[in-house]
Amino acid sequence: MLCRCLRGHSWPAGRNGRKYVGYAIPIGYPQTSAICGLCNDPAVVWFDEKEISSYEQGNRIFEGPNKFVKIKVDDSGVTTKDRSREI
Ligand SMILES: [Zn+2]
Repeated sequence: MLCRCLRGHSWPAGRNGRKYVGYAIPIGYPQTSAICGLCNDPAVVWFDEKEISSYEQGNRIFEGPNKFVKIKVDDSGVTTKDRSREI
Protein backbone atom coordinates (compact mmCIF):
# COMPACT_ATOMS: atom_id res chain seq x y z
CA MET A 1 0.00 0.00 0.00
CA LEU A 2 0.93 3.58 -0.56
CA CYS A 3 -0.62 6.81 0.74
CA ARG A 4 -1.08 9.40 -1.98
CA CYS A 5 -3.58 12.23 -2.44
CA LEU A 6 -6.22 12.30 -5.16
CA ARG A 7 -5.30 15.76 -6.41
CA GLY A 8 -1.75 15.88 -7.69
CA HIS A 9 -0.45 12.40 -6.95
CA SER A 10 -3.13 9.92 -7.90
CA TRP A 11 -2.47 6.68 -9.78
CA PRO A 12 1.11 6.36 -8.49
CA ALA A 13 3.53 4.35 -10.56
CA GLY A 14 4.43 1.01 -9.05
CA ARG A 15 7.81 0.23 -7.56
CA ASN A 16 9.71 -3.04 -7.09
CA GLY A 17 7.29 -4.93 -9.30
CA ARG A 18 4.21 -3.63 -7.53
CA LYS A 19 1.47 -1.98 -9.48
CA TYR A 20 -1.11 0.21 -7.81
CA VAL A 21 -4.43 -0.48 -9.43
CA GLY A 22 -7.00 0.95 -7.04
CA TYR A 23 -7.57 2.77 -3.81
CA ALA A 24 -9.66 2.70 -0.66
CA ILE A 25 -10.64 5.52 1.68
CA PRO A 26 -8.96 5.76 5.08
CA ILE A 27 -11.24 6.07 8.12
CA GLY A 28 -12.29 9.68 8.62
CA TYR A 29 -11.20 10.92 5.18
CA PRO A 30 -10.71 13.78 4.46
CA GLN A 31 -10.22 14.44 8.20
CA THR A 32 -7.60 11.71 8.28
CA SER A 33 -4.11 11.33 9.62
CA ALA A 34 -3.17 9.52 6.38
CA ILE A 35 -1.27 12.17 4.45
CA CYS A 36 0.16 11.99 0.93
CA GLY A 37 3.84 11.07 0.90
CA LEU A 38 4.57 13.78 -1.68
CA CYS A 39 2.54 16.75 -0.42
CA ASN A 40 0.46 17.63 2.64
CA ASP A 41 -2.99 16.77 1.32
CA PRO A 42 -5.15 14.00 2.83
CA ALA A 43 -4.28 10.68 1.24
CA VAL A 44 -6.21 7.67 0.07
CA VAL A 45 -4.67 4.21 0.31
CA TRP A 46 -3.44 2.76 -2.96
CA PHE A 47 -3.55 -1.00 -3.40
CA ASP A 48 -1.96 -3.58 -5.64
CA GLU A 49 -4.03 -6.54 -6.88
CA LYS A 50 -3.17 -8.65 -3.86
CA GLU A 51 -4.30 -5.96 -1.46
CA ILE A 52 -7.55 -5.53 -3.37
CA SER A 53 -8.22 -9.26 -2.94
CA SER A 54 -7.45 -8.93 0.74
CA TYR A 55 -9.89 -6.01 1.00
CA GLU A 56 -12.55 -8.01 -0.80
CA GLN A 57 -12.07 -10.79 1.75
CA GLY A 58 -12.88 -8.33 4.53
CA ASN A 59 -9.50 -7.00 5.59
CA ARG A 60 -9.56 -3.28 6.40
CA ILE A 61 -6.12 -2.80 7.97
CA PHE A 62 -3.13 -2.47 5.65
CA GLU A 63 0.51 -2.29 6.53
CA GLY A 64 3.08 0.07 5.09
CA PRO A 65 6.68 -0.88 4.25
CA ASN A 66 8.89 -2.22 7.05
CA LYS A 67 6.00 -2.29 9.52
CA PHE A 68 6.30 1.46 9.85
CA VAL A 69 2.56 2.08 9.98
CA LYS A 70 -0.82 0.46 9.50
CA ILE A 71 -3.79 2.29 8.06
CA LYS A 72 -7.43 1.33 8.46
CA VAL A 73 -9.72 1.95 5.51
CA ASP A 74 -13.52 2.17 5.41
CA ASP A 75 -16.17 -0.12 3.94
CA SER A 76 -17.03 2.02 0.92
CA GLY A 77 -15.12 -0.19 -1.48
CA VAL A 78 -12.10 -0.05 -3.73
CA THR A 79 -12.04 2.33 -6.67
CA THR A 80 -10.21 1.10 -9.75
CA LYS A 81 -9.85 2.81 -13.12
CA ASP A 82 -12.93 0.96 -14.38
CA ARG A 83 -14.92 1.83 -11.31
CA SER A 84 -14.22 5.50 -10.69
CA ARG A 85 -16.32 7.59 -8.37
CA GLU A 86 -16.60 11.09 -7.05
CA ILE A 87 -15.09 11.77 -3.66
ZN1 LIG B 1 -0.06 14.58 -2.93
